[in-house]
Amino acid sequence: MKAVVFEAPNTLKIKEVKTPRPGDNEVVVKVEASGVCASDIHILKGDFIGSDPYPLIPGHEFCGTIVEKGKNVENFDVNDPVAIDPVIPCGKCYYCRRNEQNHCINFNGLGDTIAGGFAEYVLVPEANLFHFENVSFEEASLAEPLACVLYGHKRAPVHLGDDVLIFGAGSLGLLHLQVARHSGAANITVCDLKKDKLALAGELGADYVINPREEDEDSPLKYAPQGYDVVIDATGSPRVVENAIKFIKNKGTLMVFGVCPQAATITISPYEIYRRDINIVGVFALNRTFGESIKLIDKGVINTKKVISDIFPLEKLPLALEMVENGEAGGKIVIKPHL
Ligand SMILES: [Zn+2]
Ligand SMILES: [Zn+2]
Repeated sequence: MKAVVFEAPNTLKIKEVKTPRPGDNEVVVKVEASGVCASDIHILKGDFIGSDPYPLIPGHEFCGTIVEKGKNVENFDVNDPVAIDPVIPCGKCYYCRRNEQNHCINFNGLGDTIAGGFAEYVLVPEANLFHFENVSFEEASLAEPLACVLYGHKRAPVHLGDDVLIFGAGSLGLLHLQVARHSGAANITVCDLKKDKLALAGELGADYVINPREEDEDSPLKYAPQGYDVVIDATGSPRVVENAIKFIKNKGTLMVFGVCPQAATITISPYEIYRRDINIVGVFALNRTFGESIKLIDKGVINTKKVISDIFPLEKLPLALEMVENGEAGGKIVIKPHL
């Protein structure tokens, strides 16, 4: 089969590899749609989490159709469309036993440490499969990023009537926007530097959109003079995170969702955190939120179609990674290996 392989840091090849066959508890999935993520770039550059993964078939946001199954697989059949939770926890370490599998000490992930979805076929344990039936493969492939967003909202919940401020109207920011709306936010303000992304945020329910290039830096406070209950960073820009503190209402929460460079640092006032009862909450990946995620997509509650900007064949993954890295992607880029 054809697959993208990260052979070593900064070495990407598209090549023929052996098509996988399932073990007793596994299925082989024909990959129909596989989303491109900024963390794929981190892995390509050698900035991975856990042990050395090379050579690696990347891709952790994918779905497809089962083409072959092992003899112990009970709840899924050949031809079933399936979405895949890529997290493979060990089940026995300190964190797994606390049901905090995203912090598993022996963490494995499809597309992170073992073969993922930028290939024609992929091996998946039955435990990682989820059914869906009403949406396209492209729409369902957003279930992994939405599961991360839902985990964020479990860590820093939006309550009825809240003011919510979101930095970044890329695909993840737009998923945060929809989840905040459904959680009962009364006022959602979205900031981004790109006009078309802000227009899409408006279409998806933002009350106010702000382009910081065109407006005063403090303009989010126009729409919430006391600040916001929940401020979400979906940019991964250290400067944005640093600047976000002043927009948090007293007793409010900053959700650090975007992935900043590992070595970046910011300056914040501990006195301000103390005096204003501020919460700062990190969100790493997803944790048992995949089932809710695919259900929200499948039932049409969360619109993932509108956050997809491009659909590319496998050969264009290098271009897609370049677009994501340079901030040129209009939204989520989805790879279709059988296109
Ligand atoms: Zn991702
Ligand atoms: Zn574990």
